[in-house]
Amino acid sequence: MSSILDNRPELTKQVWEVAEVAGYLWQKGWAERNGGNITVNITVIDDEIRKLPPLGRAISIGRTLPYLKNAYFFCKGTNKRMRDLARYPMENGSIIRISKDCAHYEIIADQAVKPTSELASHLSMHNHLIGKGSNYKAVVHTHPIDLIAMTHNPEFLKKDVLTNLLWSMIPETRAFCPRGLGIIPYALPGSFELADATLKELEDYDVLMWEKHGVCAVGENVMEAFDMIDTLS
Ligand SMILES: [Zn+2]
Repeated sequence: MSSILDNRPELTKQVWEVAEVAGYLWQKGWAERNGGNITVNITVIDDEIRKLPPLGRAISIGRTLPYLKNAYFFCKGTNKRMRDLARYPMENGSIIRISKDCAHYEIIADQAVKPTSELASHLSMHNHLIGKGSNYKAVVHTHPIDLIAMTHNPEFLKKDVLTNLLWSMIPETRAFCPRGLGIIPYALPGSFELADATLKELEDYDVLMWEKHGVCAVGENVMEAFDMIDTLS
């Protein structure tokens, strides 16, 4: 079966980097069932990809994201498992194109795999990052059990208490996660409330803890985002 990855080494590399990280998330025990999600802004796009017809109708994002006009993303599919994404990335994830109106997306390859339920928050983050001129291209969300457990202690929800504790315990965390760990109070997964609270904290942090839920990291690429979560956990 043909794939959009055929004869596209750069795109193939980016998709398989996502697959590699998906495997790590599963091995770490941070990705129960379909837990977690990854999206990457795909940088290498050729004219042929631009001409690809959508696999179905345009789907509303739920908000308008002006910096994402005609942008392309590789996204983990909703209800798909990280451990399956690791082995078969194009069957458990898909490439989407944001429409000209910046409010819809179309799936273009390889299969009509609907993106993660956290797509709106991920795309809001990508939009925000591009808007402020950042070169960050990856958003990784996962469920590191030990870190999540700490958010059940109200003391750790105060600004930078957890950051300072982690920095004092593990020196590498200060070196490799110099902006620390931001805390986002509990909000419904997949909600714009959670997305907007996250955007605000992206000003100060690259890694954010969603209280009693999981961690969300942004980075230049998927490996860098993973490394920050890995160092903190
Ligand atoms: Zn989650």
